[in-house]
Amino acid sequence: MANSVLNSLLKEYEQKKLKAEIDAQSKKDILYKQFPELEKIESNLNHFAIETAKNILLKNSSSLDELNQKVAVLKQERLHILQEANLSLDDLMPSYDCSVCQDTGYVTKSNGTREMCNCLKQKLLDISFNKSNMVNLKKENFSTFNENLFSSEVDIAKFRSNISPRTNMKNIKQKCIEFVQNFNNPDAKNLLFTGNTGLR
Ligand SMILES: [Zn+2]
Repeated sequence: MANSVLNSLLKEYEQKKLKAEIDAQSKKDILYKQFPELEKIESNLNHFAIETAKNILLKNSSSLDELNQKVAVLKQERLHILQEANLSLDDLMPSYDCSVCQDTGYVTKSNGTREMCNCLKQKLLDISFNKSNMVNLKKENFSTFNENLFSSEVDIAKFRSNISPRTNMKNIKQKCIEFVQNFNNPDAKNLLFTGNTGLR
């Protein structure tokens, strides 16, 4: 069950990531038509990124320095063109819902381990919170509990109790409040609600 929720969330993430990237590409295509130099710079930057990776593998530090300088010049040129056009670097990037995980749902920590991003954790929490009915807490809580809905009549034959349903409910409410107040106490007893099927 939990897995199927996670899987459908991850599918949702995959789709929104893809959409953000397709949208960014269409935006880029329009910008590149207006500013062909930007496209040239990007293609050079991509080429240099591959060259940089190769040189790192070959431990070729002098070529790396040269490449880094070329990349810095290109980035500066790109920034200049964007500034002239009243644009920022963000205009060339996909606009993800979550910039931390770029809509993948996971982040890689500095020690190399992969961890669920807070945005995905929050989504999972929201789903379990909604399922637990706790989402109604604002409306349905101790302060809005209306004991007047219960009869104050004492009728042993009818209610099988020598106290009225209202007094009974007040006692139950008090027990529930005590349970909440002692929630962190390991010696406090649990609460068990029983009744006929369908009652809530
Ligand atoms: Zn995230």
